[in-house]
Amino acid sequence: MDIADMRFNRREKESFLKELASGRLSHAYIVEGAEGVGKFTFASFAANAILCGGEPKPCGKCSDCVKFAAGSHPDLFVFAPEKDASQLTVNVVREIKKSIYLMPNEGAKKVYIIRDGQKMNVQAQNALLKFFEEPPESAVFFVLTDKREALLPTVISRGQIITLYPASNADVGSWLRQMFPRKTNEEIEPAVRMCEGIPGKALTLLEKRFSQIRADAEEYARAVFGRDGFKLISFFKAKRYDRQKAKDFLLMLFSLFSDVLRAKERTQNFAFLDTEQAVSYARQTTERKITFLAERALSAFEEIDGNANINLTLTAMGADINSIL
Ligand SMILES: [Zn+2]
Repeated sequence: MDIADMRFNRREKESFLKELASGRLSHAYIVEGAEGVGKFTFASFAANAILCGGEPKPCGKCSDCVKFAAGSHPDLFVFAPEKDASQLTVNVVREIKKSIYLMPNEGAKKVYIIRDGQKMNVQAQNALLKFFEEPPESAVFFVLTDKREALLPTVISRGQIITLYPASNADVGSWLRQMFPRKTNEEIEPAVRMCEGIPGKALTLLEKRFSQIRADAEEYARAVFGRDGFKLISFFKAKRYDRQKAKDFLLMLFSLFSDVLRAKERTQNFAFLDTEQAVSYARQTTERKITFLAERALSAFEEIDGNANINLTLTAMGADINSIL
């Protein structure tokens, strides 16, 4: 998400900027809201504004903003639970301790963002509380949480609470269209309707659909290179693709075959496969065959794009591919 995008949580961002301009920043903010509502985006926006040396904040042009955008600003510290870890332990606070009493590297402040604050165990929260009670002048904390109740009352009372709310469908829709200019309304609209105003959820819904089709393309490729003729012909029966899905599938298949062709020609820059997979498939085919496969996927795409019957087109492609293996 582009953090300068003011579309989401505009009111909260604007009031934060006012607070920053007035010089009355709190030492600790508790940012609460449903999963995917944009808590990290909000905290990143706020952190960027705090660290920015230009005007208006965040200016996006000064050296602080450039470092921030590159993910390498030395005064920004982000903590999150390890993958699959159920808790944020006191180790996090030990990490924070390493830098919090040092002067900031660039400007006047250091910003600490703690993601999934609801996963901090009691010990960690109590340790964190020490910083909140006697905060070093330079530190600003953002504790993100989807459950306010998971935080100790003492932690909450020391922080300023910022509550984020779901966005309108119109805002989520316009944002998705901007992020994915090549996606059609038929793809974007269901994600908007189902996301309940949570941009992060809309993104997941959209990508899930995509990742399923990607898995299908990979499975199909395994059947091609494994010379599984039965599978190639029966593959689409159970899939029941609509036109858009069929087109997505064929484009992925085309880019997968193109990768194998590139591996055959010993060039790099694979779009779909990892190098090892591309090279391994390339060993199992000839240049003439893989060229045919790529062209056949593309011609099926063009037929379906031109309103041909989806099942007939896909099955005919499977039979043609099978005949040259
Ligand atoms: Zn700046």
